[in-house]
Amino acid sequence: MPDRLQATLGLDEPVSRVRLVSPARAKALEKLGIRTVRGLITHFPRRYIDLSARETAASARIGESCTIEGVIHDVKLKRPKPRLTLVEIGVTDSTGVVIVTAFRQPWLAEQLSAGMRVAIAGKIEFNYGFKRMVNPQILPLEGSDAPAHGLVIPVHPAGEKVTPALMRRFVSNALELAEGVLDPMPLELRVKYRLVSRQVAFRAIHFPESLAEAHEARRRLAYEEVLLLELHLMQQGAARSRGHVPTAHEIAGPRMQALDAAIPFTLTDEQQQARLDILGEMAQPHAMSRMLLGDVGTGKTVVAAFAIAAAADTGGQALLLAPTEVLAQQHERSLGKLFDAAGITHAVLTGSTLESERAELLSRLAAGSLDVLIGTHALLEDDVRPSNLTLAVIDEQQRFGVAQRAKLLAKGDAPDALFLTATPIPRTLALALFGNLTLTYLKHRPHDAARRTTRVLAKSERGYAYDAAREALGRGEQVYVVCPLVGKDTQERDAMAGEGAAASREEPDGGAYHPMVAIEDDADLEHDDVAAATREAEMLQGSTFFDWRVELLHGGLPSSEKQQVMQRFHDNETQVLVATTVIEVGVDVPNATVMIVEDADRFGLSQLHQLRGRVGRGEKSAQVFLVSASKQDVALERLRAMETCDDGFELARIDLSLRREGDILGNRQSGASVLKLVNVVRDGGLIEAAHADARELLENDPDLDAADHAALGREVRLLLGATRVGEGG
Ligand code: ADP
Ligand code: MG
Repeated sequence: MPDRLQATLGLDEPVSRVRLVSPARAKALEKLGIRTVRGLITHFPRRYIDLSARETAASARIGESCTIEGVIHDVKLKRPKPRLTLVEIGVTDSTGVVIVTAFRQPWLAEQLSAGMRVAIAGKIEFNYGFKRMVNPQILPLEGSDAPAHGLVIPVHPAGEKVTPALMRRFVSNALELAEGVLDPMPLELRVKYRLVSRQVAFRAIHFPESLAEAHEARRRLAYEEVLLLELHLMQQGAARSRGHVPTAHEIAGPRMQALDAAIPFTLTDEQQQARLDILGEMAQPHAMSRMLLGDVGTGKTVVAAFAIAAAADTGGQALLLAPTEVLAQQHERSLGKLFDAAGITHAVLTGSTLESERAELLSRLAAGSLDVLIGTHALLEDDVRPSNLTLAVIDEQQRFGVAQRAKLLAKGDAPDALFLTATPIPRTLALALFGNLTLTYLKHRPHDAARRTTRVLAKSERGYAYDAAREALGRGEQVYVVCPLVGKDTQERDAMAGEGAAASREEPDGGAYHPMVAIEDDADLEHDDVAAATREAEMLQGSTFFDWRVELLHGGLPSSEKQQVMQRFHDNETQVLVATTVIEVGVDVPNATVMIVEDADRFGLSQLHQLRGRVGRGEKSAQVFLVSASKQDVALERLRAMETCDDGFELARIDLSLRREGDILGNRQSGASVLKLVNVVRDGGLIEAAHADARELLENDPDLDAADHAALGREVRLLLGATRVGEGG
């Protein structure tokens, strides 16, 4: 037993304990993020070369992936463009020749030479009269780099100083140290899913006898990854209410009823259900963590208003956090009226609130005489101290980091938390990232969005969009023109994309490359972006829209000015709003019916979908024009999806943007970062299963301190140290 314990503890010792890892090599490994023995062992192969499934040059079929063994005939280094290198390698076997093209790996020209025996693995293409492989795996079969054993060769992610061959040896040596590790997986779960032991899985994922064996190992380790993460998140959630007395809210009080009477429309069935779910949970004496997910325009805000009414009726208080000043003010305007009618006292606090007013607001909040404070990041300041916070609402929650969410929640005694988001997070992703968060989806809009049409136009056709805009203006309606950011970063990336299709092939998982505007905040605006948008606004005012009022809105404006610009557009004093993406989040002007997005191919589809959600919010039908100067078929094809698909979740999938799971939540530090083997989109079933299992485990053993859960509990705690997810929550 002590040996097993020692092996287990050994996992977290420095990587220099591994044979062959000198201090210099340890440094090189650290560059790859590998610091411990565990780091090496969880440095999983990206793929395998299966030498048992070999084809010959003659038998290899075009379009299929295979492995071919042969001898190098010649190696040529070429430079078709200043910033592009390619190495062309002829490989022959007794039946013919295959040409290998390797982009951006000039060093291959030195490592490989005529006469060497190699295996190449990749997809066969046919071009210029030859069978070819582009960027295949190339494995020398003789000399010091040749693999020692087996017919399935792992391909580990490697670096400049650590070749794949050296990495294989490091990993192999690390596995020796892990001989006999304890298996944290409870036996009943291993039996339930027929999972191999941890030790077997560690060895087999790196050095499998067959691909089937590698698959089994991966299945076991992927499940372990999610289970540990779920346990961790759930334990953390439970810790939030430990030692506190969460409020059981009054959900049928006078303000609730008055609010209900004040709403100028009937709630959709989904909104009613969402309200019921949320209030039902708020009535319980436990700390709610609920996310209300709904595409733009599905009417999330009014649902949140009912939650706020419950807090007020209970004698508690609510904070409503929004990511931008424009949005906070909009909430104050629209909800304010309803709150007044319902007898709920409210105020708004932002960075531009005058000091004297701020002081007064804060003292009312601290005295308990303010029911709800709406605001921006200004709410997070330390001196914002509600006397009895029982509900925290975060609008557009993906705009906030883990720490900010925690900070808001910490202003109360385990308050209920309601997160609103229009980001299309599938259920499994939400589970993976948030553990025991409950989810409510709004899938339909109160107004029929089918009356909003979307058209992709080439730059040369954009006159069509402007005609439509002028017609709408003639009917008394209003128009958005959206300009993307043209910051340096995008320009550079565009230049790279110009180097051709080869770039996308390099992506390890085959993801196609899209140049995309990264918009965290309009505060990231480059000077050039503002200049471009300014020019556009002036140009439009002077020509197309000379007889209407055009104004410019961008994130670089002082917030009071932003307010005024928005207010004038809202009041139809201005008819055309030229904007950067600052309007992306939640802005609501029902009279705006036309949106023209310039250089639309620079945006992600989800983002375009968010943008177009700004029109078609009222009774009138709306038109969206996506103008693109791109000549690349891929780019236009991608945009065309917008014409037929009106489902933000589906668009996100099409966009592949879900590959970057962490990013979707605007927060790379979120739980998903510990998932190495799991893809939250593909492995939905696995995540659902692990979620249910984790919940059951914790129901019976909340602290995981039963004897047969000791190893499991230890791993979960280690995860905490490694990720610090939601620290301080
Ligand atoms: P989002 O979910 O994007 O935050 P909002 O809450 O801003 O959407 O609502 C969009 C618009 O729809 C608002 O003008 C709101 O007043 C209106 N709205 C919400 N629910 C309904 C409903 N049931 N019937 C009619 N209009 C509604
Ligand atoms: Mg909203």
